[in-house]
Amino acid sequence: MSRIPIASPDLTGNEAAYLAECIQSGWISSKGPFVDRFEKGFAGFCGTSYAVSTSNGTAALHLALTALGISPGDEVIMPDLTFVASANAIVACGAKPVLVDIEKDTWCIDAGLIEKHITKKTKAIMVVHLYGHPADMQAVLKIAKKHKLHVIEDAAEAHGAEVRTGKGVWKKVGSIGDVGCFSFYGNKIITTGEGGMVVTSNKKLYEYMRVLRDHGQDPNKRYYHRVIGFNYRMTNMQAAIGVAQLERIDSFLAKKREIAASYKVALEGIAGVTCMKEAPWAKSAYWMFGILVDSPYILSRDKLLAHLSKNGVESRPFFYPVHMLPPYKSSGSYPVAQIIAAQGISLPSGVTLTRSDISDISTIIKTAV
Ligand SMILES: *Cc1c(COP(=O)(O)O)cnc(C)c1O
Repeated sequence: MSRIPIASPDLTGNEAAYLAECIQSGWISSKGPFVDRFEKGFAGFCGTSYAVSTSNGTAALHLALTALGISPGDEVIMPDLTFVASANAIVACGAKPVLVDIEKDTWCIDAGLIEKHITKKTKAIMVVHLYGHPADMQAVLKIAKKHKLHVIEDAAEAHGAEVRTGKGVWKKVGSIGDVGCFSFYGNKIITTGEGGMVVTSNKKLYEYMRVLRDHGQDPNKRYYHRVIGFNYRMTNMQAAIGVAQLERIDSFLAKKREIAASYKVALEGIAGVTCMKEAPWAKSAYWMFGILVDSPYILSRDKLLAHLSKNGVESRPFFYPVHMLPPYKSSGSYPVAQIIAAQGISLPSGVTLTRSDISDISTIIKTAV
């Protein structure tokens, strides 16, 4: 057991009380008042008209892509650096993920490279707001409009992150594209254990996703299935935890910003260690605080991971670029993703982290030199 974990959830609000209500009332499956409350509350938080809760974040992505009509033969553009679920959800629709390199500062899709990957088969662009930092949505939306493509936001790591859009208006991620998909896995910004959500302001899409989530059943005609759907429903128990977590999301996000600011000060001036950045048009959710490790720092990235572990600090390497994973092997060139992935470390970033933890972690990194 590490002394300082990478992230652990804070469940000290109304989680236990709301869960007890589920047990006492008998509403433990996917019907019950918390599901509706969580959906309405989360849509309100994101600034969308609707939300559809799901059993997990990958199901949210698959549900959204299916509802948008993504099907065999289609191509969906996505960034090379992300958690593999983004690509898997596209493949689950029978479509092909088309990988695009990332930007060196935001670590999100490089919008300047998207157009040359567009073909007759391209149906959508899936952006990923990686490690909490939003993708350049203004640039992506412009391209999507020009080529009539759907935009899916994989916001699994970025609840509450914001982007400055036209006329200086700030918008929450998930509310900018056609659909936004979230995960509530145990280490995400808010958690329901396992869980996910799709947000949208498109009523037709919302209604269709609700049908698809519930076996394709006609909402007005029981056991009558017009389309082939799934069981992607969230339980009332998951939603009960979600409602309690959502009550405190603003304080969690404030804590994440405080953690990031403390790391930036504490790690300043260590040669070869670069902290994650925040673009002037973005408010990062700082889900995981990331650093890049390169010479002249004394240890390689992997040696620093081992050094942190030996000192009781749990940290993680960045994701492998998707093009390096066996099912997605590609000879395409993704130089930025390759470098960032090879140099990146996620440091402990949970909301339960203390100032003295950050100071200890920074000292361990500094004194390795
Ligand atoms: C966590 C995550 C997912 C998948 O969410 P699950 O709830 O684990 O299915 C998808 N995309 C990204 C970028 C993620 O970080």
